[in-house]
Amino acid sequence: MAPENKLISNDNLCPVCGKQGAGVKNETVRHLVKDNLVESVGSDDYSLCMTEDCEVVYFKPDIVFYRHDLTVPVWFKNNANPRYICYCNRVTQEQIENAVINGNARTVKDVARLTGAMKNGQCLLNNPTGKCCGPVIQQIIDNALLQK
Ligand SMILES: [Zn+2]
Repeated sequence: MAPENKLISNDNLCPVCGKQGAGVKNETVRHLVKDNLVESVGSDDYSLCMTEDCEVVYFKPDIVFYRHDLTVPVWFKNNANPRYICYCNRVTQEQIENAVINGNARTVKDVARLTGAMKNGQCLLNNPTGKCCGPVIQQIIDNALLQK
């Protein structure tokens, strides 16, 4: 490694696409990688690559987990199928759009009632971002309402 590289902290830049990653807890990574990879997760927290067309999901300086290393599709990656938004209750983007277009849902609460999303959420473990799906559901509602 060239000496100047050591001066720049690039620990949270994706090794494939070079974009900055989002922080994600060790528990999340450990819960979502395939069984045979759990041992290599270690105890540190990870970065999550948010780039849609990048195959990398979790990374730290010495290890990378790709989409095919996970037990679930990652919703914001290209062609995620099924595109789960609420991982705890396996509710897809399509179901949420349906609730808005055919069920007249207007709020996250409406969507939760119509689809079963967000019930007994354990987002830290189930969602690849480790975060609650509520804000993403709101975004999908807003977009679907515009198309209505
Ligand atoms: Zn990437």
